[in-house]
Amino acid sequence: GQQPAETAQAAPAPPNVKHIIAVGAGKGGVGKSTIAASLAYALKMKGGKVGLMDADVYGPSIPTMLGVVGQPRVTNNRYIPPEVDGIKVMSMGFLVPAEQAVVWRGPMLHKAVRDFLFMVEWGPLDYLVVDLPPGTGDVVLSLSQQLPVSGGVIVCTPQKVALLDARKALNMLGTVKIACRGVVENMRSEIFGSGGAEEWAKEAGVPFLGAVPLDPSIRITSDDGRIGENLEEGSPVREPLLAIADRL
Ligand code: ADP
Repeated sequence: GQQPAETAQAAPAPPNVKHIIAVGAGKGGVGKSTIAASLAYALKMKGGKVGLMDADVYGPSIPTMLGVVGQPRVTNNRYIPPEVDGIKVMSMGFLVPAEQAVVWRGPMLHKAVRDFLFMVEWGPLDYLVVDLPPGTGDVVLSLSQQLPVSGGVIVCTPQKVALLDARKALNMLGTVKIACRGVVENMRSEIFGSGGAEEWAKEAGVPFLGAVPLDPSIRITSDDGRIGENLEEGSPVREPLLAIADRL
């Protein structure tokens, strides 16, 4: 049976969301949104009901990556999230122009996150994947205050210089008491190197979820709003993405 809200350990979850996975990164441009969106597809393929919440107020790129056009409908004061390939999608980018959001302060972000969680008809979900803004800050704090987040995933590139940022992201999860599900090394390549994040994860004592190669197809599918194709048969990144989703 359903527990009354007062006896719940953390803030009440939106109805019927089993797992909330927050995807973060120490800095921008490492492929955080790409990984978040791809994992949403991978989880969907495993048979789950999946929502994708683009909370990257400073650069909401999820609608572009999934090719969402238009705005969510509003019924009875609730947002109906557009569905792409069966994934329910909400983005800060639907609601506010990015140039406006960048000047938002904590309280406004807090309210925006709350609206996203409680004013959106997510329906029953197995997974809600949240694409966090890069760095450490207000959005993850308010997310963690309003919901029992099941786990955080840190996306990092292989270079040594990137690991300092990953460490900050890990510390941030610790500060807001979100368990780190693990680290994804993205853009593994001859150019950026390989294994840096994997070694670091070992040192830091957090699980290594897997590596995704640097591959032009990812750049193309995300720019063209066809990111789901990364999970299709024949895609060079399908296997690593599915393996990462299995370990979540
Ligand atoms: P972030 O969310 O960390 O700012 P994005 O997910 O927006 O980063 O990715 C930044 C750019 O890098 C995008 O153009 C994306 O398509 C590209 N990209 C991400 N991961 C890869 C990869 N493994 N191989 C090639 N391009 C990638």
